[in-house]
Parts: sequence; structure tokens; C-alpha cells
Amino acid sequence: MAEPTVGAPELTVVVPAFNEQESILPMYERLVAALEPHLAGLEVLFVDDGSRDDTWQRISELAVRDPRVRGIRFARNFGHQAALTAGVDAAAGRAVVIIDADLQDPPEVIPEMIARWREGYEVVYGQREQREGETAFKKATASAFYRLLRRITNVEIPVDTGDFRLMGPRAVAAFRSLPERNRFIRGLVSWIGFPQIAVRYRRHARQAGETKYPLRRMVRFALDGITSFSFLPLRLATWLGFAVSLLSFLYIVVVIVLKLLAINWPGYTSMMASILFLGGVQLVMIGVLGEYVARIFDEVKRRPLYLVGESTDGKVGVTPPERRSS
Ligand code: UDP
Ligand code: MG
Repeated sequence: MAEPTVGAPELTVVVPAFNEQESILPMYERLVAALEPHLAGLEVLFVDDGSRDDTWQRISELAVRDPRVRGIRFARNFGHQAALTAGVDAAAGRAVVIIDADLQDPPEVIPEMIARWREGYEVVYGQREQREGETAFKKATASAFYRLLRRITNVEIPVDTGDFRLMGPRAVAAFRSLPERNRFIRGLVSWIGFPQIAVRYRRHARQAGETKYPLRRMVRFALDGITSFSFLPLRLATWLGFAVSLLSFLYIVVVIVLKLLAINWPGYTSMMASILFLGGVQLVMIGVLGEYVARIFDEVKRRPLYLVGESTDGKVGVTPPERRSS
């Protein structure tokens, strides 16, 4: 991990890329054009998350051409959040911007983020006021998810934000100290605190290629967000337990009264209904427990979060030591 030193670039832009061969060059060109006039020193750090196309070739070519470009390549696909973490870990710049490779988040917004940072904000996050070129289903589920998350967590996670954001040196240091494996980065960055502010922008359609977040990954990601920041799903079992106990107590009273009045009360239907209902509730709650247990298991295994297989400056190896120690 690079320490911010004298002579370090003012800003590192971290770009996670998984099969984004068409986007690397346009991304680089737009970044340089947008940022060069505003900065004393820029580093563009591409993290190739185990791509199977020409992404790595494009990154290496760029790094040869322009010393401001660096690339690290994972040994395999470790996922978006791991790629972002590796980028922030390895960044040499004082401040760090993370931005998707697909140009959905316009690099032209970054100067505004830099301006806010210079005003004294430690975290400047992009807030989408409009999303183009995404399905109505994705927009609706994303919107519902961020609003739900806001209600059930005690961390102020702003709605409609992605990972597109700038972090100042203190936020970067705090971020590097977070050891967890199941990372919901937009939540973690809110969690570290410091003065934070939004910059509103329009999210464009993907410039090339296709989304790497199919429904399965979106659900997993949403569960990571909820389990990382809320115990509410676990408490649900307690509340449901109380509610069911209360109802069954009332039911017992009713049954006794009916018995005393010698009213014959056929039990098969209600018995089946209650057995099936309770069976369902119990299985769902075991599933909820399972989501937490699986993540605990993941954390205690303490495997590195990512493995770097190759990098343009020759440094390879595993996760930095502070991510490995217990
Ligand atoms: N990405 C990655 N590893 C993955 C999946 C995605 O590094 O396993 C990168 C991807 O290349 C892109 C960013 O993460 O730069 C966001 O992914 P995508 O655009 O597919 O997500 P969406 O914008 O559709 O939510
Ligand atoms: Mg995208």
C-alpha cells in the first residue's frame, strides 16, 4: 500500500474494470481531459478484476504510454467491491476518486467534487438525479432498496448514490483500516463519518459492453448491504415470536371457552393452517439467520479479500498486511 508522501499525486482515480475492453481508452481520455487543468498531479489506477477480454492489454499499453497510468490485475474475478478496495489500498494520491469503467458516471463531474473537497468536505459522493438507459425494473428495485436501507439501518446512507465518490486523505486512511470481507462500500464510507456532501449528476447509459450485475448479484449485494448495517432482520424473529405467542394464547382461551360451552370445533383445517404457517415462518427465519451465519463464517476464515496476479509496476502479491492481521 502506498503511503501519501511528499510528491505524491494530488488525486488517484480508481477504475474497477471487468471485461470492459471498449471503455478503457475512452475512460482514460475523458479523465485526463477533465482533470488535467484542475490538479497538481494525477494518477489513474485501473483494477482489472479478472477480465477475460482484452482489458488488461489495453491497460498495460496505456501504462507504457503514460506514466500517470497504473494497473493491477487480480488473479481471478473477485467482484466489484473487492476491486474498489484494492484500488483504494494501492492508490498513491492524497485523495481518491472511485468511478466505474463503463462511463455511466461522467468524469466531468470530478472537478466539482475536487472543488468541494478543497472547501473542506472529506467525502463527496455522487447522487444520481436521473438514470438513463437502465431498465424500469432496475430503477424501481434500486430506488426501493435504498429507501428500505435508509429506514432499517442506523447509518446515514444517502439514497440514490453508488460508489462514484471522492474521499480525502483522512477518509482514505479510515477506509483502509476497515477489515471486513463482506463489503458494502457505499455504506462503509457513510459509516466513517467526516463532513460529507453530495454532488448531483445525471447517470448515463453504459457506453459499451453490458452490465456485470445480473439479478443474482444484485440480490447478493443488497443482502450484503442490509446484513452489514442492520440487525433488524434478526429482531424480526423476536417480534414475530411475540406476536404468534400472543395469538396462540388468545386462541387457547377461545378453544377452552368453546369446550366449556360444549360447542364442537372441528380442528383439522385450523391445525393444518397453523402448522404450515408456523413451518413457513420458522424456515424463513432460519434462512435469515443463515445469511448472517454465512457472512460470519466468511469473516472468520480470514482469507485475503483479493489476490493481485500482475501489475504494471511489477508489484504483485496478496492483500496488504493490515487486511490479513486479525
Ligand atoms: N465490475 C468489476 N467486477 C465485477 C463486476 C463489475 O470490477 O465482478 C466493474 C465493472 O467493470 C464496472 C463497475 O464494476 O466498471 C460497475 O459494474 P456494472 O456497470 O456492470 O454495474 P451497473 O452499473 O450495471 O450496476
Ligand atoms: Mg455500470
